[in-house]
Amino acid sequence: MESTHQHADIVIVGTGHGGAQAAIALRQHGFDGSILMIGRDDAPPYERPPLSKEYLAGEKGFERIMIRPERFWAEKDIALHLGAAVTAIDPHAHRVTLSDGGEVTYGKLIWSGGGDPRRLPVPGAVLPQVFYVRDKSDSDAMMQALADGAKRALVIGGGYIGLEAAAVLRKLGCEVTLVEMLPRLLARVAGEELSAFYAEEHRRQGVDVRLETGVHAVLGEEAGKVTGVRLDNGDEVACDMVVVGIGIVPAVAPLIAAGAAGSNGVDVDEYCRTTLDDVFAIGDCAAHANDFADGAVIRLESVQNANDMANTVARAIMGDKQPYHALPWFWSNQYDLKLQTAGLSLGFDATVLRGDPATRKFTVVYMKHGKPIAFDCVGTMKDYVQARKLLESGCGKIDPAVLADPEVALKDLL
Ligand code: FAD
Repeated sequence: MESTHQHADIVIVGTGHGGAQAAIALRQHGFDGSILMIGRDDAPPYERPPLSKEYLAGEKGFERIMIRPERFWAEKDIALHLGAAVTAIDPHAHRVTLSDGGEVTYGKLIWSGGGDPRRLPVPGAVLPQVFYVRDKSDSDAMMQALADGAKRALVIGGGYIGLEAAAVLRKLGCEVTLVEMLPRLLARVAGEELSAFYAEEHRRQGVDVRLETGVHAVLGEEAGKVTGVRLDNGDEVACDMVVVGIGIVPAVAPLIAAGAAGSNGVDVDEYCRTTLDDVFAIGDCAAHANDFADGAVIRLESVQNANDMANTVARAIMGDKQPYHALPWFWSNQYDLKLQTAGLSLGFDATVLRGDPATRKFTVVYMKHGKPIAFDCVGTMKDYVQARKLLESGCGKIDPAVLADPEVALKDLL
């Protein structure tokens, strides 16, 4: 696109999961106006989950993680403007300004900017072998470091991304140390059973897991090579690369500067509308009242949420308004373990364990006021499928003793 004025009936900012699905859904619902997707990433829309899994492991090439084959976008008359960021929005003129100097006016704007990795705030964090895991280019850079001979990795952050990266790095033969500030892994998203299980699993696989441990500085040679990390307890761990997975900061600055309401991301209503006229927001950056969290205003960082919000917006634009009401689900692959999560465990007051973690097949049920609100299913696909139905049906109280019995099928509790 030239750096001149352009117009599209719908401008989508962000070419990730939400943005791509919004364009796809609009065409599926029969929208025949012009659609322009603007993304700061150079690559056409691709899936992010494999970036810390099969793509990083070298098991899947880029072709296999593209959301659609490249020709799809032209076939559907969806214009892609890649490698440029939207830097400003004029909500009155319905116009966005791009980092390459271009300007585009819109009929409606769908913001799907996702988030930027939270940066490591310590000395040495700018060294080139300090990696984040958000974009394809991040995983590519990590793979290059491995190809160049990096053998010892220090992973910062015991959330899903840190754990998945640690699992892949082990599989690739690296020595891996993983540090987590909190007393357990996955503390923000899971209960103690799951945390303990994954800590044990990673240790069994040879990862040096250190809890309640922060990072003081990344150490390097004058030439700029990482040589180690100094921890906040004074210990030094020698390493050739550092992988940081400590969360994201929603990428919404232009929206907020334009006057959209929001503090943790951007606020949206049940149709994913921001407080700006004709501006929607979806995906990781969209703070919304979630039905599966008792209406608490939250952001969800999942493919499910990005896709389902995209569908909500496409329907709203096509005049078939249906409030966002989608059961949250998520997955994580580490080693040969497949975790599938249904529902949200936010505010749980008890857990019920179905099965024995020692068998590496079990389910953790999160309860609130006697009702199941979420399920973490490790290798228990059947539980996962049936748990979704149970949660979608808005299930009532269930006797924990019944729930704990893996012989009782969840579908029989419907
Ligand atoms: P994104 O997919 O991040 O897309 C946002 C896009 O907007 C980016 O391309 C960004 O460059 C672009 N952008 C931002 N600001 C601007 C701007 N100003 N101008 C132009 N472009 C802009 N979820 C799961 O459910 N299961 C998983 O197993 C899982 N694994 C993951 C592993 C990794 C390594 C990562 C990073 C995420 C994972 N997720 C997983 C989360 C999931 O990928 C995200 O929730 C999902 O991508 C959110 O979609 P989105 O459209 O909101 O944001």
